[in-house]
Amino acid sequence: MDATEAGDGGPVTHVVIAGGGSAGWMTAAALCSVLAGRGVRVTLIESEQIGTVGVGEATLPHLRYFNQRLGIDEPEFMRATGATYKLGIEFAHWGRRGDAYIHPFGEFGSDVDGVGFHHAFLRAQAAGSPHALGEYSLPVFMAAAGRFAFPAADPTDLAATYSYAYHVDSALYARYLRGFSEARGVQRQEGRIVGVDQAPESGFIRAVTLESGHRIEGDLFIDCSGFRGLLIEQTLHAGYEHWKHWLPCDRAIAIPCEGVPDPPPYTQARAERAGWRWRIPLQHRIGNGHVYASDFCSDDEALDVLRAALPGRAMAEPNLLRFQTGRRRLSWSHNCVAIGLSAGFLEPLESTGLHLIQLAIMKLVELFPGRAMEPRLRDEFNRVMQMEVERVKDFLITHYHVTERDDSPFWDHCRTLALPDSLQHKLETFRETGHVVRYREGLFLEPSWIAVLLGQRLLPRRIDPRIQRYPLASLQAGLEALRVRIRDCAEAMPRHQQALDRVGDPGDQGWRSASMSLYGVREAVH
Ligand SMILES: Cc1cc2nc3c(=O)[nH]c(=O)nc-3n(C[C@H](O)[C@H](O)[C@H](O)COP(=O)(O)OP(=O)(O)OC[C@H]3O[C@@H](n4cnc5c(N)ncnc54)[C@H](O)[C@@H]3O)c2cc1C
Repeated sequence: MDATEAGDGGPVTHVVIAGGGSAGWMTAAALCSVLAGRGVRVTLIESEQIGTVGVGEATLPHLRYFNQRLGIDEPEFMRATGATYKLGIEFAHWGRRGDAYIHPFGEFGSDVDGVGFHHAFLRAQAAGSPHALGEYSLPVFMAAAGRFAFPAADPTDLAATYSYAYHVDSALYARYLRGFSEARGVQRQEGRIVGVDQAPESGFIRAVTLESGHRIEGDLFIDCSGFRGLLIEQTLHAGYEHWKHWLPCDRAIAIPCEGVPDPPPYTQARAERAGWRWRIPLQHRIGNGHVYASDFCSDDEALDVLRAALPGRAMAEPNLLRFQTGRRRLSWSHNCVAIGLSAGFLEPLESTGLHLIQLAIMKLVELFPGRAMEPRLRDEFNRVMQMEVERVKDFLITHYHVTERDDSPFWDHCRTLALPDSLQHKLETFRETGHVVRYREGLFLEPSWIAVLLGQRLLPRRIDPRIQRYPLASLQAGLEALRVRIRDCAEAMPRHQQALDRVGDPGDQGWRSASMSLYGVREAVH
């Protein structure tokens, strides 16, 4: 009897990855380097005929750790993917038309006698301070001023209060990782999977068959086939939890256009009548997209909005994408693990797509099973992935729900929708007390919530009484001194373009070694 059918022991010796988008190649690259020397063979099957989703350009700082773990050289990666630096996301017109704030990869001020900085900020505001929250955050100031420098290594340094990510060309990133993986022994198989052979008793996948008739057997199958979920859904019927009632956007149109010199070191997310638009600067072009809810906006209207707002000449035809926000009920079922869009999708507002892929890969490596697919490992993987995705979901809903906008049926819908209990509790607690309910696990930490909640005008009814007792004059003097330090520090930094020019010069080794030693150790990642 087949070992996988019997569910008996023995190590996994052959991993088969179905799909070669960002998810497939990130998985292949990680497995071939992390599992090197453990006798595990990796095969990746992809179909050029089917292609990839072709978007996914804004990232989170965690991607740097992923690359570092694989031993990828940062300047080489940036040149290969046309990457720029990213310090956060600017949200325009979300709380109210005309508003704008930046959600940075970093902190706002620092605690005052153990009380969160935003309480001090709110007290100063109530006393008439004209300064915005972002003026107390170095990465916000840097972003607004178009500056970029690496975080400082000394955790006591003001310049250690932020982190950074990248804007990347995701197709080029996948191509780069393909070269990386093939050089380390990953076998790439071109072809369309047309058949899946399952063990009759256990339902475990034994092999996939390509259009050519070629049969590929494996012990562990990674479904990176995108929205279709070829193995996890079409074969194993893991189920899908739909979240459209919370996250109503279900379509996107993307058009790349010509770039501009000195691009901003941040992603732009501008709220529209029935969704929002992204603008993502790369070295060689700008990625533009319009995410919208088809219940409130036609495709033609969405395309008109996007075209009218292109900052340069279009470089390709519009790419229309349909998606269903939600999550796969089981990311790991039988001997199949879904990674990437096959595991679910939460729309791109906070650039979490590649992050969730990276998280799933690292979890899989940590819980790497034997051929028996130990249920405890599987259950733990599914628990962690569900929790992570649910946290992101709550944060995304917040952007739509915490708004005063009432200028379209879409915003009326978002403003009044019934929230998940976890988020209801979080928002009510903040509204009543100014405190952010902390999660023990999960992606977005307090500064991220503060950025969005205050940025979208959710002002608490009261603030921490300990700050109310603090002498106002010394509080104001402290805030002003911090604001000036932040401004001076940001203004002394190079422009983003200067930092990019140095990446483009492979001979500039002085910069390269400096950049490696200047990685911040604090890495306030939110
Ligand atoms: C509108 C939009 C914007 C996004 N923006 C961001 C962003 O800014 N930042 C971010 O981090 N993420 C973003 N994402 C998410 C990101 O694009 C994806 O998470 C990422 O690209 C991974 O996709 P994938 O590899 O899972 O799927 P895909 O790119 O769809 O790849 C699927 C692969 O499976 C192969 N395949 C499918 N069926 C078969 C078959 N039968 N036989 C053989 N091969 C097959 C295909 O050929 C392809 O290689 C965005 C997503 C969308 C929809």
